[in-house]
Amino acid sequence: MNCPKCKSDLVKRYYKGMIEVEACPGCRGMWLDSHELDQLEDTAFDNDPHKGSLAHFQTKTNYPCPHCGNGLDEFKYRLYDLKLDYCAELDHGFWLDAGEDERVMEIMRQRAGEIQRKFNAEAEWKQMLKNMHAFLAKKK
Ligand SMILES: [Zn+2]
Ligand SMILES: [Zn+2]
Repeated sequence: MNCPKCKSDLVKRYYKGMIEVEACPGCRGMWLDSHELDQLEDTAFDNDPHKGSLAHFQTKTNYPCPHCGNGLDEFKYRLYDLKLDYCAELDHGFWLDAGEDERVMEIMRQRAGEIQRKFNAEAEWKQMLKNMHAFLAKKK
């Protein structure tokens, strides 16, 4: 598989001890396959307390899906100003640019500080990826 952004060969990497992803050694982005996301624990999107703030904004990009070569769609998660590129064939997965995960986790940590409770940003992030996946799957 090739990176949709810089065309480098993607390499398997174990991400934060959670899931296997296809990482790009060139631009440091990563591709998350749907079956890889299935390795995350399953929870219903309906239980997401942030559901109300989830806004999707879609544009077509020219970045090719590493699986089928079709142009990826861009999706925006407003709460964290997070952009994801995903394939309309939802079994194929989605793309995350380098550093986006760390940036979102940092925002999560800040929010956690504000609400003064013990908070695990990585667990929250993992949950968000799963919710995102469930949300996109539902749109199919
Ligand atoms: Zn790349
Ligand atoms: Zn595809």
